[in-house]
Amino acid sequence: MTRPWNFSAGPSALPLEVLEQAAAEMTDWHGCGMSVMEMSHRGKQFMQIRDEAEADLRELLGVPDDYEVMFMQGGATAENAIVPMNLLGRAGSGRADYVLAGIWSNKSHKEAQRYGDIAVAASSGEAAQIDGRQQQAWTWFPEPQTWRVRADAAYVHVCSNETIGGVEFADWPDMAALGAADVPLVVDASSHFLSRPIDFSKAALVYAGAQKNAGPAGVTVVIARRDMIGHALPMCPSAFDYTNVAKNQSMFNTPPTYAIYIAGLVFKWIKRQGGVQALERANIAKAAELYASLDGSQFYRALVHPRWRSRMNAPFFLADESLNADFLAESQAAGLLQLKGHKSVGGMRASIYNAMPLEGVRALINFMQDFERRHG
Ligand code: PMP
Repeated sequence: MTRPWNFSAGPSALPLEVLEQAAAEMTDWHGCGMSVMEMSHRGKQFMQIRDEAEADLRELLGVPDDYEVMFMQGGATAENAIVPMNLLGRAGSGRADYVLAGIWSNKSHKEAQRYGDIAVAASSGEAAQIDGRQQQAWTWFPEPQTWRVRADAAYVHVCSNETIGGVEFADWPDMAALGAADVPLVVDASSHFLSRPIDFSKAALVYAGAQKNAGPAGVTVVIARRDMIGHALPMCPSAFDYTNVAKNQSMFNTPPTYAIYIAGLVFKWIKRQGGVQALERANIAKAAELYASLDGSQFYRALVHPRWRSRMNAPFFLADESLNADFLAESQAAGLLQLKGHKSVGGMRASIYNAMPLEGVRALINFMQDFERRHG
């Protein structure tokens, strides 16, 4: 079966093998006579699915034993509230500091303000001169040495891949080196989760909505060091209290069983590809070809500073924006789907997650070069 190349930012393309396996197992999972959607979450079949999903994810990311893996609901947006409700009680100060580098970190910051004394540690929300390049707001990432972290903050929050702006921050700091050894780093890794290894010695809590690299919408993965758990504010709904979620292996209430099952199939697919390290190598190659092609053209422009260009989400603009509608119509006709940029920034965006092979990226590059020849 061949399908068009799907560049959606999320929900986004899943590996075809995963979809075909799910289709084959849809009405009867492993001969038990039930669809995964129809089985009790407490029955032995689903318990096996859940346990394998957690074990495979732990193996793929090398999750340390003192970290809990939780499968939650509400997406990363709900975590914007769940994180402060669970963590602000930790330090006694009720304070947390946020690094702002795009739309998603701004949303996290805004939501957190409902729960405590929240400050901005750093922001890329203004133009800057970096390495001789004039960078627009939200096209670069504030270097950790510039963060102002309050020593009594309960945590500092970053979004490590701004899906809309295409800004990726992978060099997570050692908080001790920033003079804030007691302030844990909390990371929204939604849109590059499983595209590269995670250094858990740097982050105390990492969360990610599944619907990019990990599976379908409906499940949020939260990986939290155990000392982050057990500090929920009294207002925190019990279903969102990490203590309850962790103690009950994500079954405090009915979990999103089908989404966990599909995520589990994706984890097994990643293992078959050679793990996160192998996918990272592929992702580096894919992004390098795409950005080299953008940089080699006057017809297209990529605005993010090269140091922080996302391997997953590449926003770009046509120098002549009056061609946008033609570009979208022709790319769609050529079997290249969902290239329209987010409405807040305009232009185009190619999201090239794990499930997008180099072949799909090359198809896009060929189309773009052809479009330039015809319209340039
Ligand atoms: N954070 C990031 C980095 C995202 O990309 C998204 C969704 N695209 C969100 C948060 C919000 O996720 P959700 O819609 O699942 O709540």
